[in-house]
Amino acid sequence: GSESGGEGADPAVELDGVTKRYGETAAVDDVTLRVREGEFFTLVGPSGCGKTTTLRLIAGFEEPTAGAIRFSGESVAGVPPEDRDVGVVFQNYALFPHMTVGENVGYGLNFADPPKGMSRSERVDELLELVDLPDAADRDPESLSGGQQQRVAMARALAPGPDLLLLDEPMSALDAQLRERLRVQVRRIQSELGITTVYVTHDQEEALAISDRVAVMRDGRPEQIAPPRTVYREPSSRFVAEFVGDNNVFAGRVVDVEGDEVGRELRIAVVDVGGETLRVGVDEGVEVTVGDHLTFCVRPEYLRIDEGESRLTATVASAEFLGETTRVTLDWGGRDLVVRTRDPLSGEVVVGFDPEDAHVIGIGEE
Ligand code: ATP
Repeated sequence: GSESGGEGADPAVELDGVTKRYGETAAVDDVTLRVREGEFFTLVGPSGCGKTTTLRLIAGFEEPTAGAIRFSGESVAGVPPEDRDVGVVFQNYALFPHMTVGENVGYGLNFADPPKGMSRSERVDELLELVDLPDAADRDPESLSGGQQQRVAMARALAPGPDLLLLDEPMSALDAQLRERLRVQVRRIQSELGITTVYVTHDQEEALAISDRVAVMRDGRPEQIAPPRTVYREPSSRFVAEFVGDNNVFAGRVVDVEGDEVGRELRIAVVDVGGETLRVGVDEGVEVTVGDHLTFCVRPEYLRIDEGESRLTATVASAEFLGETTRVTLDWGGRDLVVRTRDPLSGEVVVGFDPEDAHVIGIGEE
């Protein structure tokens, strides 16, 4: 990630208390966020959480009901999309079928002169090179694969040299394998240009793979904004913990708190979960007291067979063979637990985890 938009610099894009209402519905509900210069920033969340509306507000296709949107410190209120210097790519690539690939890309130059005093055709060639389709200028868009068409759509959006690239589910019409390949290419193109990018997807894996930072959205607002690793390892809420990747969420009452032990800097909350006593590491600065209700999570890769300080006995309910690992769902007293193993499991198994591999999500909730 780029640090060029660090302290002092105005963020490339800033939403400040932005709300968008459609009648009774707040599609976007008091959202405040900042996208740094050169950053790949992703809005991710389930259907209807307000991702597309947020992107449309940034693009200028919609105006907020309340709040301010600023680009590099300047309000864009009332500025129409064509004057915002943004390139936009949607899910349905919508190339013009009666034009060649080169003409499609060139169409993006109808709204701005080619940068650096280039000719139109030089600029088109440069862009097709960038999206790794150097010989496609004379081809018919319909002769290209879905992924190639989406790259042409990106080239068209980038043609005028926008300051900001907005991508709304650009890969959702493609099959899984193609999506994985295309996301690598999208990220490479973005890095090469250093262009600030806001990306919308409902696919959490894609969001983690492609982004500098991710905003996990729920009901019109971001629930957590952080780098992929943080969102994955230290989810700020149960919703984030369960939306991003597989997770095992536990909740119970704190029966003891152990302070610093010899050779271990971690405090431990001893939590009673359904009669079982589990030991959970508590980060510095987190207040926890006996009697608190504590919610925590353990990722499947940290739930190990016959290992770990806190152990549970559960029964294999189902297994999915995924190639490298098998994803096994266990039944633990009516609760589902997910583990990943290399060896097949059946019947009754003991799984465990160490305190430092548990992450506290909330205290005093429920
Ligand atoms: P999806 O992944 O399904 O596209 P999303 O996260 O992009 O969902 P939005 O499309 O932003 O969500 O919609 C957020 C909410 O606002 C939804 O409840 C939707 O029905 C509502 N909404 C969006 N656009 C309009 C509109 N033009 N008129 C009325 N309601 C709208």
